[in-house]
Amino acid sequence: MIPAAFDYEVATSADHALSLLGSDPDAKLIAGGHSLIPALKLRVARPSKLVDIGRLGELAYVRDAGDKLAIGALTRYKALRDDALLQEHCPIVSTTAGLVGDPQVRHRGTIGGSLAHGDPASDLPAVMLALGAELVIRGGVGERIVPATQFFTGVFQTAIGPGEMLTEIRVPKLTGATGWSYVKLSRRAQDWATVAVAALVHRDNGGLAAASIALTNMGATPLRATAVEDALTAGAKPTEAAEHMADGTDPPSDVAASAEFRAHLARVVGKRAIEEALSR
Ligand SMILES: Cc1cc2nc3c(=O)[nH]c(=O)nc-3n(C[C@H](O)[C@H](O)[C@H](O)COP(=O)(O)OP(=O)(O)OC[C@H]3O[C@@H](n4cnc5c(N)ncnc54)[C@H](O)[C@@H]3O)c2cc1C
Repeated sequence: MIPAAFDYEVATSADHALSLLGSDPDAKLIAGGHSLIPALKLRVARPSKLVDIGRLGELAYVRDAGDKLAIGALTRYKALRDDALLQEHCPIVSTTAGLVGDPQVRHRGTIGGSLAHGDPASDLPAVMLALGAELVIRGGVGERIVPATQFFTGVFQTAIGPGEMLTEIRVPKLTGATGWSYVKLSRRAQDWATVAVAALVHRDNGGLAAASIALTNMGATPLRATAVEDALTAGAKPTEAAEHMADGTDPPSDVAASAEFRAHLARVVGKRAIEEALSR
């Protein structure tokens, strides 16, 4: 379908983007366009104006920020995948970015667009939840920092308010004491996850001190699998802990899988993710 008519402006800076956004309550940001353009074509989204932030080099970076890495919202999946700082200090992000869509999607799509879109089937949201990432949201009156646990509020809904934009994502540097994995199961290589599991295991004195497990496409938002985390820290083996992977979830039923099958897949994929994290 052809999108409804809209005005179009290219932002030359983040401040310019915010001022364009503030001048029209029905304006929308466009970054990589890989979620928004399909929505425009389906007329699910009908903004009066598109504010193009896709060329804002000032928001495309990965920087060392002490015990964290700061990632600009306009950083594209390919840049995340190839980034040496991420590969060394937070490889779950670079590896997962390399699993998104196909090369075309990875060359255009941005981390900010992925998180702001709030699609529970997207890959990076669950990784951010497992990592305990912080998201920097800038508006007309300054910026605020929202933890990933409070960022995803519903299907295609996030904590970003009208006139605001996501500018930066902060992830912790992982040490050798933390094992990690993101296991994604999809019907075809370039598809969204039918189900995926992000797993982080933190070791202390040779034992497991804590685990952080998050699920993709098992509810309206990415979800922490707290029952699995509790079981692992209480000493359960991966197979036993993974039995709790679907506890408290509300998976969708669609052409890819029924809710019941998704719950089964979560247990299978989750066990693999925990085992891989423990092996790293
Ligand atoms: C064929 C195909 C396969 C795909 N497969 C996968 C997959 O396997 N895994 C996966 O995770 N994703 C997948 N995607 C989605 C892809 O990752 C999108 O690129 C991503 O979801 C959105 O990023 P974008 O930069 O393209 O955002 P856009 O489409 O430009 O924007 C998406 C939404 O976010 C808003 N937005 C964008 N940037 C900001 C910002 N900085 N601050 C506030 N709001 C903002 C926009 O206003 C819009 O509402 C796929 C897409 C396609 C077309």
